[in-house]
Order: sequence, then structure tokens, then C-alpha cells
Amino acid sequence: MPFNYPQLKNPQRCSKCASCMNSCPLHAITRIEPFEVDVSKCAKKGECFTCAMACKTGALVLMSGN
Ligand code: SF4
Ligand code: SF4
Repeated sequence: MPFNYPQLKNPQRCSKCASCMNSCPLHAITRIEPFEVDVSKCAKKGECFTCAMACKTGALVLMSGN
């Protein structure tokens, strides 16, 4: 099943606000500095956009996984 996961593609834009981490219903983002995501948890959520929508700075980019 396809799924999305976030990458910190634009780290210079990250304000370390933790909105992404706090928005994830599965707690898949485990750290923001350095940014770490448990991709296996995203895989359970399928195509999810929650963290990217919570990031107001454009620091996160959603990637596609399978
Ligand atoms: S894509 Fe969804 S499941 Fe994965 S970190 Fe973002 S909010 Fe959490
Ligand atoms: S929501 Fe965006 S700016 Fe805030 S910690 Fe996450 S990646 Fe950084």
C-alpha cells in the first residue's frame, strides 16, 4: 500500500516549533533536532498529509513509499 512520509528537505526553514511532531496521530516523528521519523509507522497510516500541513515554514517535504 502506498504511503507518505516526511523528510526535512529544507532544514534551514525549520524553526524547531515541533508542530509536525505534535500533529502526528501515530507519533511517527520521534525527534526534530535532528529530524527523525519512524517510516514504518507512516506506512500504517497510508497516504497522510497531517505533518506537512502542520508545518507552516515549508521545511518538510512528503516522500512516497511503498
Ligand atoms: S505522514 Fe502522517 S503518519 Fe507520517 S509522520 Fe506525518 S503525520 Fe505522522
Ligand atoms: S513543523 Fe516544520 S518548522 Fe516546525 S519543527 Fe516541524 S519541520 Fe520544523
